[in-house]
Amino acid sequence: NDVEQLNALCSVCRTCDRLVEWREDVAEHKRASFAGEPYWGRPVPSYGDPMARLVIVGLAPAANGGNRTGRMFTGDRAGDWIYAALYRAGFAANETVSTAGDGQTLRGVRMIAPVRCAPPANKPAPDEKAACSGWFEREIALLPHLESMLALGGIAWHTTLAAAARMGWDVPRPRPKFGHGAVARLRTPEGRTVRLVGCYHVSQRNTFTGLLTREMLDDVMALAAAPASG
Ligand code: SF4
Repeated sequence: NDVEQLNALCSVCRTCDRLVEWREDVAEHKRASFAGEPYWGRPVPSYGDPMARLVIVGLAPAANGGNRTGRMFTGDRAGDWIYAALYRAGFAANETVSTAGDGQTLRGVRMIAPVRCAPPANKPAPDEKAACSGWFEREIALLPHLESMLALGGIAWHTTLAAAARMGWDVPRPRPKFGHGAVARLRTPEGRTVRLVGCYHVSQRNTFTGLLTREMLDDVMALAAAPASG
């Protein structure tokens, strides 16, 4: 389908020189640590249900997570948290993930990264975010049943608002502030409402320190999954 075609095109993108060099360098030097497993080292496609009502917006793949396995949030601790929460909410077939060949499937949910190549220090540069936003916007426009988006962290929140504005969506002014459990209502040109829900990122910095607990993640996932009310 169109979404899969888009992701196939994206998987060979080489627009950002710095990120192409980094993702391939990491693959070259870390491959030996994961002997026997294929190492992706390319743009990480979106993952999940093309008919999704809910989209999880991350930031960018982790160097040895998605960049290694080729599947979003797969192969690192942040991913363990998000897949477990999706399982508890009834969206994922399995509670745990190991590699891209673990039989996991998502129903009603799709994961999309606004930046699809792993950046050094997990920090994409402004021009890299701008370059990749085209992929993000094209994919969002291809999801006919989209009702809500769960933004993991402030960067995902602001990136999504900026992308929505560029796509001609009605975005509240002043721009809504990010917070855990914050909700912004966006309106597409066709008149559909899409809710943007904020969630602290599932990074170890937040989960180890208790800034984000399992209960907080479940609560905000339920908020994002609630049926649209207009
Ligand atoms: Fe292409 Fe996005 Fe990767 Fe840049 S970050 S090379 S635009 S896929």
